[in-house]
Amino acid sequence: METENHPLLEVSHLKKYFQTKNKSVIKAVDDVSFTISQGETLGLVGESGCGKTTCGRTCIGLYPKTDGQVLYRGKDVHAIGERQRKAFTKQVQVIFQDPYSSLDPKMRVQDIVAEGILSHNLAPDRAARQEMVATLLEQVGLRQEHATRYVHEFSGGQRQRIGIARALAVDPEFILCDEPISALDVSIQAQIVNLLQQLQEQRGLTYLFIAHDLAMVRHISNRVAVMYLGRLVELSETEELYSHPAHPYTQALLAAIPIADPLAERQRQRQILAGEAILQARGEGCVFAGRCPRATQRCRQETPSVRQVAPHHFVACHLYD
Ligand code: SF4
Repeated sequence: METENHPLLEVSHLKKYFQTKNKSVIKAVDDVSFTISQGETLGLVGESGCGKTTCGRTCIGLYPKTDGQVLYRGKDVHAIGERQRKAFTKQVQVIFQDPYSSLDPKMRVQDIVAEGILSHNLAPDRAARQEMVATLLEQVGLRQEHATRYVHEFSGGQRQRIGIARALAVDPEFILCDEPISALDVSIQAQIVNLLQQLQEQRGLTYLFIAHDLAMVRHISNRVAVMYLGRLVELSETEELYSHPAHPYTQALLAAIPIADPLAERQRQRQILAGEAILQARGEGCVFAGRCPRATQRCRQETPSVRQVAPHHFVACHLYD
C-alpha cells in the first residue's frame, strides 16, 4: 500500500504472530505494508485489540517480527546490533498512551526528562542538563518550577506533556505516538494534538500516530491507515479518506463519529457496527466478513488483496475487484 519515494520508514509484508497456550496462532499483524516519509504523520487507526500497538512497536523493533521487513533509513530495524541500537534509540522515540503508568512516580520531573540526555551524553555537565530540561519543559507548555515536582502532582494532560518532553530530550527525528491522547479528557486531547503538531513544525518530526478512532487523527495526519484484526484494510491521504471512505469498516467507523450540529446528527442515519473486534486464530477470508453488512460467500473464503481505487488511495475489499 505505498507510493512515496525515499521513505524514512518502510514496512513490507510485516507479520507478528503469537502462539496461544493451545498452540493456535494469533495474527496480530498480518502482511502489513506502508511507508512514512520524513516530516509526515501517518495515522494508524482501529478498534482496541486490532493489533495497531503491536504493529507500531514491531515497526521500531520493540517487538521481534515473525516475517516481513522494516527499514529505517534503509537499515533493517530487526537486524540492528547492540552498538547501533543506542544510536537508533536517539533517532526513534515513543510517547506512550498512559502517562500515569509510563512515568516513574518516584522520580522528579527533571530526572525523568534528563534520562535520555544522560544516557546519550548530550550535556557536558549538570548545569547544562538542567538548562536543557528547562527549555524542554517550556517547549511542551510546562514551567521551570515544575522540574522539581513529582508526577502525581500533575494532571493527565500535564503528565502527557512530561512524556513528550522526555521523548524530545534526545532530539529524535521519528516518534511513535502510541495512543497519546486516548487516556485523556476530550477537552485536553485537542491541546496535546496541537502541541504535537507545533513541535513537528518546529523540529521537522515524523510521526506514526496510533489512535482508536478516526476523529482523533484527522487533524494531525497527512495520510491515514485503517487496521482491522491485524490487517491494513484501507490507506489514503487524509481528506480523500474522510470524503470517500471505500472500505465498509472505514465507512462504519466514520459513521460512528458524532456530528456537532444536533439537527444534522438527528437526521443522519447512523450505521451501527455490531459486535467487536477480537484477535483470534482464523483461516482464509476477509477479516471483516463477520461484521460486514455487504459480506458474500466469497468474502468468507478468499482474502481480498489490496487495490488502488484513486490516486494514493488503497483498499482491501472484494467490492473493488
Ligand atoms: Fe465486506 Fe467482503 Fe469487502 Fe470484506 S471483502 S469488507 S466482507 S464486502
